[in-house]
Amino acid sequence: MKILVINSGSSSIKFQLLDMEGETVLASGLVERIGEPTGLLKCVLWPGSVDEVVVKQQESIADHRSGMLEVVRLLTDGANGAVRSREEIRAIGHRVVHGGEDFHEPIVIDDKVVSAIENNIALAPLHNPANLDGIQVLRELFPGVTQVAVFDTAFHQSIPDRAFIYALPYEMYEKYRIRRYGFHGTSHQYVARECAVLLGKPLQECNLITIHLGNGCSMTAIENGRSIDTTLGMTPLEGLVMGTRSGDIDPAIHAFLHRNCGMDIEAIDHVLNKESGLKGICSMNDMRDIHAEIAAGNDRARLALDVQTYRNRKYIGAYMAVLGRVDALVFTAGIGENDPVVRARSVAGLACLGIELDQEKNKKRGGPATLISSSNSRVQVWIIPTNEELAIARETASVLNKPLQ
Ligand code: ADP
Repeated sequence: MKILVINSGSSSIKFQLLDMEGETVLASGLVERIGEPTGLLKCVLWPGSVDEVVVKQQESIADHRSGMLEVVRLLTDGANGAVRSREEIRAIGHRVVHGGEDFHEPIVIDDKVVSAIENNIALAPLHNPANLDGIQVLRELFPGVTQVAVFDTAFHQSIPDRAFIYALPYEMYEKYRIRRYGFHGTSHQYVARECAVLLGKPLQECNLITIHLGNGCSMTAIENGRSIDTTLGMTPLEGLVMGTRSGDIDPAIHAFLHRNCGMDIEAIDHVLNKESGLKGICSMNDMRDIHAEIAAGNDRARLALDVQTYRNRKYIGAYMAVLGRVDALVFTAGIGENDPVVRARSVAGLACLGIELDQEKNKKRGGPATLISSSNSRVQVWIIPTNEELAIARETASVLNKPLQ
């Protein structure tokens, strides 16, 4: 069974075509700079195999529709495409950022689901409209093919009210649905499932802390396989220090910036989302550049690393307290999978909580899942590569296989 996975952003579309027998990737790629004078389409057919073909096209891509048309043409291009015809694509899985309180699990997209996603636009004004563009175009191009929405927020719908309610006037929750939703749910759930297999016990019996450190960063406390708290909040801004996002700050800083620094709400929003985090502290948001600068004696780069890893450690401690018993910590995503220094500093001094790394094993960068804790460590520590596309494809397949209710 072949499944197409779509992650439609405001100016880009990422896609992957998978054959679920053997879970092999038939094609993967990206359409970038949609609506700009020069767009870019990159597609790798049969990646990693001896037949690998890389296609790069630079041309203007007016909108999501023309971008997707070109992708479909490449994927189904006679003898050269990844499949012979559109009919071979059994289903399409869409990443949708915000499902609000409406969606606890992936769902087959129909008009009702589309309007529910529309109703959540206020909660994710940048992401949900772009996700909907992708859905609309693909429904048009593939009429009759089952399309499934997989929500970043769904895994966190099990969080209890004591952890999702902000201490604001309760009407703000009732009227405007202001609460913690959490994001990166597909990634947290995927690595949690993988971890359960590695631990050799059912997910329903696993207590885990999953730590997704990429450009966006978040941590989730998982009790008996279910998310019970997570660091991202109503929007993907709260919690850990990210590439360009601040994470936790005193909420009164908003009013201070407005009253004393002449900033309006748009400017404040921009600074907190795009000019803060690692970038705000040291002008760089790629951890590899930060390490190079630290080696060259750049003190701000050192500070950025210190602030990020200190915040990670603080939340690991908090989630140990929330969970009581923890089977494993899981590091994932770009930094989590590749950066021994960030991992070591995020758990430094936590031997008192039963967390001890094996310094040799922790040197690992990339590759398959690896246990990096020492044999004395009460809590296991794992690196588990995330794979959101595969997770979305699996979810899509499982929705198809579900009996009709
Ligand atoms: P996104 O949130 O965009 O999906 P990724 O999970 O791909 O992000 O992570 C991107 C980040 O991972 C980069 O900004 C970089 O800081 C970090 N990264 C990638 N490779 C390495 C590496 N080898 N060492 C340290 N950091 C890395």
